[in-house]
Amino acid sequence: MNINWYPGHMKKTKESLQKNISMVEIVYELLDARIPLSSQNPIVDEIVKDKPRIKILNKSDLSNDKYNKIWKDYYQTKEISTIFMNSMSGKGIDKLISLSLEKTKDKRNSYLKKGVKNKPIKAMILGIPNVGKSTLINSLAGKKGAKIGNKPGITKMNQWIKTKKGLELLDTPGILWPKFEDEKVGLNLAFVGSIKDEILDVETLALKLIKKLIKFASSNLENRYSISTENKSSLEIMEEIGSKRGCIIKGGLIDYTKVSTIILDEFRKGKIGNITLELPEESDIYD
Ligand code: GDP
Repeated sequence: MNINWYPGHMKKTKESLQKNISMVEIVYELLDARIPLSSQNPIVDEIVKDKPRIKILNKSDLSNDKYNKIWKDYYQTKEISTIFMNSMSGKGIDKLISLSLEKTKDKRNSYLKKGVKNKPIKAMILGIPNVGKSTLINSLAGKKGAKIGNKPGITKMNQWIKTKKGLELLDTPGILWPKFEDEKVGLNLAFVGSIKDEILDVETLALKLIKKLIKFASSNLENRYSISTENKSSLEIMEEIGSKRGCIIKGGLIDYTKVSTIILDEFRKGKIGNITLELPEESDIYD
């Protein structure tokens, strides 16, 4: 999945991240709102420790509102602060700033007591590849910047970006690795397009996605393709979508590659609907 990650490298990354974390007052852990568990790094708690932290559930323009609420409640019961974000539009940024100020209140007060005025509150972003770290940095910086690479760890050219209300953000995010040894996690990351399709052939991946959609969003699937999913196998559903979309090769056979690509692409773009693929009850992923 990501051959760059090997144990020695993880250890180094962890150490360099911890160094950067020691420079900030608050950490933003970026997750994909469609797969909050699968987009999490397995040892993020160990890396961040007790530093104030906000989980940002990004790409919430693609996740399901009802499920967002379930996740919000779940995190609330665990006293974990969350913000639902759309990094592309910037929706959620104001809430993020105000929550950051709230969570660093004690620290800011202690600066004031020492007579230090206008000391900026420093923050940094952490997350696995493709969750939207660079998009959020650019949104917070108020500019359309260049893509930040997916090389593990942190580069040395750290700069502080001024955002709103005296908050400063480290311009380079901490890039973490996903829990890639777990098949369920790998599949979820592949469904949302965060890892390359090559982990599975596109037909198998689309069949597994259909199975998942039957469980999580059958009405979305039915509405998008004007089909019924009742008592049908994933393969039958795929064939029906294929024939409806004209994915036919010589002899009237279904073009499975073509229909699979359509289904995956439409899911990733949110055309099948706002869909979340994970619920908190699956938190056994991290047991
Ligand atoms: P990074 O690897 O974590 O820095 O991720 P990027 O910022 O490069 O984003 C990965 C992809 O997700 C890009 O195609 C972005 O345009 C897209 N993206 C980022 N944030 C959002 C969001 O909030 N909503 C949607 N729909 N797409 C997003």
